Amino acid sequence: MLIVMKRDASKAEIDAVVERIGALGLSAIPLPGAERTAIGTFGVAAREYADQLESLPGVAEIVLVSRPFKLSSREVRAEDTVVRIAGVPVGAGQPLAVMAGPCSVETREQTLATAKAVRAAGAVLFRGGAYKPSTSPYSFRGLGPSGLELLSEARAATGLPIVTEVLTPTDVELVASHADCLQIGARNMQNFSLLDACGEQAKPVLLKRGMAATVEELLLSAEYILAKGNPNVILCERGIRTFEKYTRNTFDINAIPLLKKLSHLPVLADPSHGTGKWYLVAPVALAAVAAGADGLLIEVHPSPDHALKDGFQSLTFDNFEKLMAMLPAIASAIGRPVAAAA
Ligand code: PEP
Ligand code: MN
Repeated sequence: MLIVMKRDASKAEIDAVVERIGALGLSAIPLPGAERTAIGTFGVAAREYADQLESLPGVAEIVLVSRPFKLSSREVRAEDTVVRIAGVPVGAGQPLAVMAGPCSVETREQTLATAKAVRAAGAVLFRGGAYKPSTSPYSFRGLGPSGLELLSEARAATGLPIVTEVLTPTDVELVASHADCLQIGARNMQNFSLLDACGEQAKPVLLKRGMAATVEELLLSAEYILAKGNPNVILCERGIRTFEKYTRNTFDINAIPLLKKLSHLPVLADPSHGTGKWYLVAPVALAAVAAGADGLLIEVHPSPDHALKDGFQSLTFDNFEKLMAMLPAIASAIGRPVAAAA
């Protein structure tokens, strides 16, 4: 439930409510808003204390949140959240944020060349995996720490903030020391100890939808991160598994406006994994922008047919540039700017 404070509630009154919630053995999450502060406390036990809390000085009302996800819901926060990745804003009508780069960091040359090419074409964030989740134990699983060093080098060379995946709670600290945003991949969307660990550190988190996860499950996973105190979560639709075999996944376009309706968190679209075919990436990217996505995640490789992972869905530099050239028309049709190319 939400304990909504009066507009003129003093800091002492707010602190006293937080303290009382703590004394009841519950956890209190202060949610400062533009006009008033609310304090969230969730879980079945909280409701028993609604009357007690409502009578404390400075409290305006108690609002029961009906959705199973709380902190990620529009009921708790009506206005869109902007997540800043090393200063690059994502969400809330900010310019469309395009993050691009290879599936995996493979070599220094491949990494730096791709970072420079995507920056020149207008990407504002660089992505690439140093730790790769892999269906087969025999496929490439990433360079690990040396991949992180290459990503840091790419940031130094281009100024683009880095988004990279973390696979386990024990790697969070190391990955966060290089990354500007931690990615939790589809296969780990319900790795609850990883969600907790990412919630306990300060870098923003890009949370990808599991391939068999509902929209509600995605929002509940986001809730884990928010409940640990990290408010900077970006949701990502990356396609779900269906009976269709021509594509790797079925990009769920519904999820974009649905997530925007249910949640205040920014929503990104990943048409690379969402289709699995390079020639479907641009049309589905444009559709996602038209549907209201706050940004895109696009895989780009200098030579997709030599890529160690996800080559078939990766765009060449040329094709990425062509996609970027098409975005402003669609974005402006729905009143959204595109971040300017460097
Ligand atoms: C990726 O972004 O390269 C990746 C592995 O994505 P997903 O977790 O969506 O499969
Ligand atoms: Mn990939």
